[in-house]
Amino acid sequence: MCSIDTIGTSINEREILVVKISDNVKKKENEPEFFYTSTMHGDEVTGYILMLRLIDYLLSNYGENEVVTYLIDNVEIWINPLSNPDGTYFGGDNNIFQAIRFNANYVDLNRNFPDPEDGEHPDNEDWQKENIDMMNFMKEHNFAFSANLHTGAEVLNYPWDTYEKEHADEDWFEYICREYADTVHKYSDNYLTSFDNGITNGYSWYSISGGRQDYVTYFLHGREVTFELSQTKFPPANNLPNYWEYNYRSLLNYIKQVTYGIKGNVTDSITNEPLLAKIEILNHDIDSSEIYNSENFGNYHRLIFQGTYNLKFSADAYNSKIIENVNVQNENFTILDVKLSLDTTLFISKIESYNLKIIPNPCKNKLQITFNSKYNENLEIIIFDFYAREIKNLKNIFAKKGKNVIYLSTADLQYGMYFLQIKSENIFIKEKFFKH
Ligand SMILES: [Zn+2]
Repeated sequence: MCSIDTIGTSINEREILVVKISDNVKKKENEPEFFYTSTMHGDEVTGYILMLRLIDYLLSNYGENEVVTYLIDNVEIWINPLSNPDGTYFGGDNNIFQAIRFNANYVDLNRNFPDPEDGEHPDNEDWQKENIDMMNFMKEHNFAFSANLHTGAEVLNYPWDTYEKEHADEDWFEYICREYADTVHKYSDNYLTSFDNGITNGYSWYSISGGRQDYVTYFLHGREVTFELSQTKFPPANNLPNYWEYNYRSLLNYIKQVTYGIKGNVTDSITNEPLLAKIEILNHDIDSSEIYNSENFGNYHRLIFQGTYNLKFSADAYNSKIIENVNVQNENFTILDVKLSLDTTLFISKIESYNLKIIPNPCKNKLQITFNSKYNENLEIIIFDFYAREIKNLKNIFAKKGKNVIYLSTADLQYGMYFLQIKSENIFIKEKFFKH
């Protein structure tokens, strides 16, 4: 149910660890991926401890507690309790009392990510090792929802941090943050009450560039919130159980939000193979808020505030599809599986004056290809199968000005329909042939 993985290593070669918790932990399942990560500021340790406790709570309550069981059965949960070990253990491996905010290069990791407004290096520093490893880890996954944990304030901060304008899903961000804070308030006194009673839009608090939250939300098309969970950066040990008591129900509910919204699988209409697709909400998505599905199952998870939406699904070489009037309610989900068909117009041949001939057609073990070239030049011959998958690619084939004859072995092709494409700077021809 639990496996330990490594996101990467810090500059001083400490491992940056992550646990995966799922009912079939060794398998990639047709489920959303969720990610908690804490303490990128090394001296903000409350979240580090809360995450260790959350891992323990999930693992020891499976099959006992209904919410925990539901989450482990339906979500791939990833938790990284400490993302800046060099900062936290700056004073040595057995000492956190000299912890610093920065990494070993004295760089603030939460100003060091590419920024949607201020470019790739908004802090004028190279990307730090910890962040490069983190970005690679996140790109290997498709986290539909995440949070990163800090201290120094008591508020949930949602995108954008860099822009004054609102995220397309501002109402949804506000809703899930409100839910988190309201649940906390039931079990605490005068805690997590800053700004709008414990929640704020990032920019209206203060603008930052190079933050992780905006990087994930903009460049990875994810949804990330920054949790500031204790006013004191370094609370005394005997206060830590209180922070757990205030927050644990909200931490679980927050994970559960990844199971809501509009979701389903995008597949090929004939083969049922998963397709990598873009999912857009028409007249709604803006500033990179469209999402992409994950390639293993073609599953997508569009978290969104309740309402009725028109969705557009598109994939390379496929006809896109618009599905109108899809309704979804808060704390609930709508399943919408979508099948896309191959765009056959891409295969109409552009013969013009090339006078392309493929004989015999249907062929057996050999093709004779005849065509006219206007120049002496090198060209490329590519064979695609019916599903537009590249089967053969022959590069640097010399064609002389005038008539050319090229022979091609087709002995290794399965029976069926294929497309032959010849291209160079001056030529683009495509023609269909059969192998019988
Ligand atoms: Zn921080």
